[in-house]
Order: sequence, then C-alpha cells, then structure tokens
Amino acid sequence: MPKKLFVTILMLSCLQVVILDKGTGTSTDDSLNIVSTGEKTAAYWLAQARAAVEAKANRARNTKKAKNVIMFLGDGMSHQTIAAARLALGNENKKLSFESFPSVGSSKTFCVDVQVADSACTSTAYLNGVKANFLTIGVNPNAKYKNCNDNVDRTKWTSSIAQWFQNAGRSAGIVTTTRITHASPAGAFAHITDRNWEANVNVSSGGCDDNIVDDISEQLVNGEVGSKFKVILGGGSENFIDSSFTEHGVSGMRSDGKNLINEWTSKSNKRSFVRNRSEMMAVDPKKVDQLFGLFHSDHIPYHLETVSKNEQSIYPTITEMTMKAIDMLSTDTDGYFLFVEGGKIDHGHHATQARYAIDETIEFSKAIQATVDRVNLDETLIVVTADHGHVMSYSGNAPRGNDIFSTAGTADDAMKYYTLSYANGPGYFFNRKPGARVDPATQQSTANSFLFPAMAPNEIETHGGDDVGIFATGPNAHLFTGVMEQYIIPHKMAYISCVGSGTTLCS
Ligand SMILES: [Zn+2]
Repeated sequence: MPKKLFVTILMLSCLQVVILDKGTGTSTDDSLNIVSTGEKTAAYWLAQARAAVEAKANRARNTKKAKNVIMFLGDGMSHQTIAAARLALGNENKKLSFESFPSVGSSKTFCVDVQVADSACTSTAYLNGVKANFLTIGVNPNAKYKNCNDNVDRTKWTSSIAQWFQNAGRSAGIVTTTRITHASPAGAFAHITDRNWEANVNVSSGGCDDNIVDDISEQLVNGEVGSKFKVILGGGSENFIDSSFTEHGVSGMRSDGKNLINEWTSKSNKRSFVRNRSEMMAVDPKKVDQLFGLFHSDHIPYHLETVSKNEQSIYPTITEMTMKAIDMLSTDTDGYFLFVEGGKIDHGHHATQARYAIDETIEFSKAIQATVDRVNLDETLIVVTADHGHVMSYSGNAPRGNDIFSTAGTADDAMKYYTLSYANGPGYFFNRKPGARVDPATQQSTANSFLFPAMAPNEIETHGGDDVGIFATGPNAHLFTGVMEQYIIPHKMAYISCVGSGTTLCS
C-alpha cells in the first residue's frame, strides 16, 4: 500500500465519531434470524440433499475442446472472503455466481522461496505454469530477485498461457481493476525480477540500467506478447508516460521522455486508446483491431467509492470491462484467452477495510455471472480462482443472518468483538489503546472505510498461506477438482484448449 493511501486511511478513521454499536452478539432466540422456517424440519434438509446429490450424479461431462478460456482471478479472495460475501449479499444461503460451478478444487499457493505467496510468484504459477521466487514475475526460480542479468537472460524467462494462445494463432487479452502493470496481469506478458519495476525509474532506482532492462509498461507496449494483446483494460497511466506528459490530470512517472500510450496508438490506425467509461463503451469491436483502456493514473478506485462519488460515468465496472473484452476477443473466430482480475479485493484486505474487500468480491462475482450469461459454455472454459489468501478471520457465534460487519459476541474482557478481524494489519492502530482493546460499543463502525481490528500492528496487512478455491465450468471443467499445486492450473487450461507445448486433448 502506498504511503499516501495509508495516510488517507488514517485521516478517514480519525474522523469517525462515537455512537453505539448495533451488533447483536450471541442470542438464545434464533427464530428471528432463521432465513427459512423450513430449516426447522429434517425433511427440508433431506429434500435439499437428495436434490443436490441427484443433480451432481446426473450431470453430463462436457469432454470437448475449449475454443476459449476465461480465467478470473480474485486477488486475495480467500475462502473466508467468499463466505463473508454471502452474508453481505443477504444471508448464509446466498451464493456468489461461481459457487454454482460444477467443479471445485483447491490450490496450494506458496512461492519457491517463501511460505506465504505474493501476487508476483503466484501469477508466474497460475499463468506460466512454473513456481517462482517471491516478488518475481515471468522468470523461473533460477532468476534471483532484483537481479539485472537474470532479468535479461532469456533462458530464465517463462512463457504464459496468453503467449501459448497467441502462438496457436488465437487471441489474448487482459482486464484488471488495478494498474495494468501490477503483478497479477503482468504475469500474462512480463519477465521481471522485481514486480515494482513498473516504469523505467523503478528499474534504475532498483540498480539496473533501464536501457537494458525493460520495465513492465515498456514490455506491455513493445514486448512480444503484450504488443499483440487484442484488449488491455485497467488503470495505471502514470507508468506509461514521462513526467513531462499528463494523463488523468497526473504527471507521468517515467524519466526517459517516452509516451508509451502515443507509441502504442501510433502503430496502427486500427488501434484505439480510451481514457474513461464512455469512451470505452463507444468502441465498436468490428472497427478496431486492438483496444487499450487506462481509466486512472493509478489503480481504479474501489467500486464503493465510485458509487459514493457518483463517478460511474468515469470508471467502468469490472463487469463492463469484461463484457467489452469479450466483445473484442470474440471477433477472433479461432478463439481466445482472457484474463480478468478483481484486484481490489486484495487492497481492501491489506488496509483491513473488510467492507471494500467484500464489495469488490461481489462486483467480481457479478462480472463472472455476466460472462456465464454471455458466452457459450459448450465451447468456453471459465476458471475462477485466487492467487493467495488473506489473514481475515470470520469468527464467533452470532445468530443466523447477523450483519457480517457487526459484532459476534462478548469476549472475556466484557467487550463485544467483531465477526471479522485480522491477524495483523493497520486495523490494530484503531482498535487498541494502552493495555486494552477499544470497546466496539464506542466505535462508529458503519463507514465503508472502517478498519477492522488486527492482532499485530502492521502498516499493511499480510497475505495468508491458506489454500484457495478453484471453480470451473465449461469443457472438461472436471479436471479442476482435487487439491492441486497452483502451477498446474495453466497446464490444465492448455490441455483442454489445445495450446502450449505439453500434451493436449488434441494430441
Ligand atoms: Zn496483496
């Protein structure tokens, strides 16, 4: 998390006034909170179970080749995040769209050198099929972090499933709610020994010659894979332009005089660059070969912020970006690979602002539902997963239907405790006072920006090392069941779609 974001969180939290907490705590009378009265009978549960077993047993497997593959990556979308999002949708019986997918597995996320992964080594795994070192992208584990020579040693580069699709004469594209040069989407096109080298200034401050080591923005615009993307949608214009240029009202980060956006656009009159939602919506996929959209100088703001500031005409939702990307890619009749990241789930958690994380999860789920409604699942494989977990826990004995952002019960210090809390993170600073917790009853905890409590003080909450879910539907989705290593995921997608250099369904 950048320093300025942390300062903003501090300011927002200091503004919070003291009112009585509305948490219900534990209750012996659960009748008011039971969602369905049928739940009181065994017959209800038995009927539900029989229907579920029959549906599963009678489901026919689709064993065809996948023409298209769409991978949805919820950054930091732990199982606890999914479970909490159900409550935010209404109650425990609600489901996120992908929870109805027929095949579910789980993935082990560790990096080669570190127990709890970051988004860089994991994007190398789930997009390139190779486990890597912490903070490195698109390079094998022989490449050391921040090593300049390793960065340009092509024998240490891995290749992504986006490239495998391109090599097979099919299209590829990337969509994210973060900077487009951030670690997750970068796994589709970049080779970099430090994920922070998003602009040339980061390469030189990292000790490498920026004339030799291409930063991630440069690799997106001029690299072998990035330059061929049919669609690129996200944030982060500041990394593409020199400080003498301005985009989205902000001067660029680069120091090499380049305007990579102009460079990208100038290569063909069938390329279109867009800066806001309206421009994106107006693009006719039949009239342009390639679409590049950057909607903010930095990450795209949280969906909740966009709504509260009435900025929906400026920033497209993840659903709108995904639909436009599918429209663009569908013009390739040979098929496509699309990567879509719900990147702000992770940011909400890092700030211990669980409301943002959960709302971004729900927005991510909507984009997946819209995709299911749009594509032909007979020929399109959809895989939904996360790169790593987070340290948010979902605790207590609250009655059914209790507000997930409220309190769950009373602790041994005679104060209530929140259902959601974190093992570490900035929430510590706002929920502790000398020798004691801050009493939730004295807190205004209803703001979107409220920081949930953390046990250890950390300016930025860390990721979690727990396994994450994999949800699949479409051709051969049943291959995604079981506990698997994260780096196996792209090999399965490649097998089903007949791309890459390994064994495939077609070979
Ligand atoms: Zn993260």
